[in-house]
Amino acid sequence: MPTALFTHKACFDHIPGPSHPEAPARLEAVHAALSDKSFEPLDRREAPRATVDQIARVHPHDFVTQVLDHIPEQGVVRLDADTIVSPGSGEAALRAAGAVCAAVDAVVATEVQNAFCAVRPPGHHAEPATSMGFCIFNSVAVGAAHAREAHNLARVAVIDFDVHHGNGTQAIFHNQPDSFFASTHQSPLYPGTGAINERGCANNIVNVPLAPYSGTDAFQEALSKTILPALHMFRPDIVFISAGFDAHADDPLASLNFTDDDYAWATERILDAAASLCEGRVVSTLEGGYNLSALGRSAARHVQALMAA
Ligand SMILES: [Zn+2]
Repeated sequence: MPTALFTHKACFDHIPGPSHPEAPARLEAVHAALSDKSFEPLDRREAPRATVDQIARVHPHDFVTQVLDHIPEQGVVRLDADTIVSPGSGEAALRAAGAVCAAVDAVVATEVQNAFCAVRPPGHHAEPATSMGFCIFNSVAVGAAHAREAHNLARVAVIDFDVHHGNGTQAIFHNQPDSFFASTHQSPLYPGTGAINERGCANNIVNVPLAPYSGTDAFQEALSKTILPALHMFRPDIVFISAGFDAHADDPLASLNFTDDDYAWATERILDAAASLCEGRVVSTLEGGYNLSALGRSAARHVQALMAA
């Protein structure tokens, strides 16, 4: 079965401003990397809009409608210090969350083996009632809730290797014993959460903070010795990846030293686990990554690994 690539042109129209690192050029870099001939086997699909009801599985309904009501007709509006919306941002955020839901549908229907969602804005910092950290809605959590409620996949897992802690996903999953969240992230760094002792209501949260300048060895140890054993204990029905590529050594926003190869290796290990645990059901979505060249190369290695599963 092929790997699906979900994306939508509306994801280019979220424009937080000329000096903002979370820029449309990021998605151009990912698409350019995935335009290589080796990616022809991808099953390329247009992301649908998530419905307000789908997003309201993880965010209060009033919050969702208020955010959408705040999208300006011109200019920009700040949702927090660094989360800025433009006229196209609402549509982009709906397509980003809709991509993850549609990817779940395609994987569960065995139309595809797994899927990558090349979308923006990212989502993992968005808490139940707070857009923050470049994130409007928590797309990966919306997708996980969709797997649970539309497909009866009771146990959902998210592995987040973005350099920043996925505080939003953790907050949404904290009181859900059947939802597992594991993260490697630089510490100290924005948003400041993600300590080892943040374990969730049922040890369903696993945080591995990494000191600045940590690289391949620390990442491999975190995944092999802590996160994947915990994932096996949890026994997921589907695995999501919050695929941020800003732990790369070349990234300007952080100080970890991951390499292109690390993203291939980590993806392969997660796929191996999913193959033994949940028939290989994996849905990955783009989070951060701010050096355009490193982002394109790393995303390509990630998607190559998905295609080889
Ligand atoms: Zn990040």
